[in-house]
Amino acid sequence: MPPFDYTPPPYSGPSTEEILRKRQQYLSPAICHFYKKPLNLVDGKMQYLFDEKGRRYLDAFGGIATVCCGHCHPEVVDAIVNQTKRLQHSTVLYLNHAIADFAEALASKLPGDLKVVFFTNSGTEANELAMLLARLYTGYHDIISLRNSYHGNAAGTMGATAQSNYKFNVMQTGVHHALNPDQYRGIFGSDGPKYAKDVEDLITYGTCGCVAGFIAEAIQGVGGILELAPGYLPAVYSTIRKAGGLCIADEVQSGFARIGSHFWGFEGHGVVPDIVTMAKGIGNGIPIGAVVTTPEIANVLTRRNYFNTFGGNPMCTAGGLAVLRVIEKEKLQQNAFTVGSYLKERLTSLKGKHEIIGDVRGRGLMLGVELVQDRELKTPAKVETAHLMDEMKELGVLIGKGGFFGNVFRITPPLCFKKEDADYLVDVMDFVMSKM
Ligand code: PLP
Repeated sequence: MPPFDYTPPPYSGPSTEEILRKRQQYLSPAICHFYKKPLNLVDGKMQYLFDEKGRRYLDAFGGIATVCCGHCHPEVVDAIVNQTKRLQHSTVLYLNHAIADFAEALASKLPGDLKVVFFTNSGTEANELAMLLARLYTGYHDIISLRNSYHGNAAGTMGATAQSNYKFNVMQTGVHHALNPDQYRGIFGSDGPKYAKDVEDLITYGTCGCVAGFIAEAIQGVGGILELAPGYLPAVYSTIRKAGGLCIADEVQSGFARIGSHFWGFEGHGVVPDIVTMAKGIGNGIPIGAVVTTPEIANVLTRRNYFNTFGGNPMCTAGGLAVLRVIEKEKLQQNAFTVGSYLKERLTSLKGKHEIIGDVRGRGLMLGVELVQDRELKTPAKVETAHLMDEMKELGVLIGKGGFFGNVFRITPPLCFKKEDADYLVDVMDFVMSKM
């Protein structure tokens, strides 16, 4: 593991067994089954996490693509602490500079008329609001999302989410799922406009001919780091707008400099959405999300009362403002591009050595490695993926997994990830794969 100059303070809390017992007894059984034996995490510093024994782990999952500046980045921590000491809570009923400043800073990162910000507490809430805005503004109800997408787990967003393992059998109306422009498994390969035709068909055969909107991630995160085929988004945006709908970019994972080449995922596709949703990276781990849209669209909410008690809490907005400052000051987008390109190159060369690697994809520090039992048939190597992840954890490397079949390594570390970290990650992956 690369050297790192930080020793966490000694831990004197309850034992791991005690915490595990409480988790089993008092926490919802629905929480993650990623690891057979979950880690007891006590400290975090930049791209590293520490367990109760002070053992260091390279966090190549970044708290599910959430920690962008690095764990407990001092400038972000200071901003949150200082704000908390002065005013811990306020709502949009009053004025507060932390809220207004962050809204202004966010709007400045977006193109065109995308200038009005609503704060939420999560990505789910942000997407719920985006879908509501689209429905109110257009007067239509139908929303189109992509198969294999993940947009959240409340009533509306669970409808937009299109992976059966994240869906429960409750009423989810008015959402249609279009063919996924998946360049690895999709029937049209990388031909984006061909997949886009399916959206036209869905509108023709499944709706009154008009829709409220279309929601998509530029790179599907939970879906297994799948970058939409080139040419897809411009074609679909045009179809949706002809059908009276709004285009929503879900930037919960792909936003905030993670993809390196651009600040937002949609920018890589040459489109400008009507509504942009964000969460995760926006707060470096503190609970905040946002919806940004145009003044005209935002105006529909004035017809009724609409507010969110905790959305835009000054502790979170002060933290968010610091996140934007750090991304800029430490050139984290550039780092995501440089280190991400290097890491992708190294992972791609690993594919030459290990048959189990079917595909390496993604951009910047949002990378995926799809594992298959047979390259020709693309049979998902689900059990092997879980096993290799466990083995990597034992050697101090934490990554995520996802994809419809649970056979894709998700690599989304903090954007301060270094070349030496990339080398360590690939060397460990190589080692565990060689032992199989
Ligand atoms: N949208 C995308 C693309 C996501 O990846 C997620 C969560 O993983 C969400 C929305 C929902 O965000 P949250 O878990 O903060 O509600």
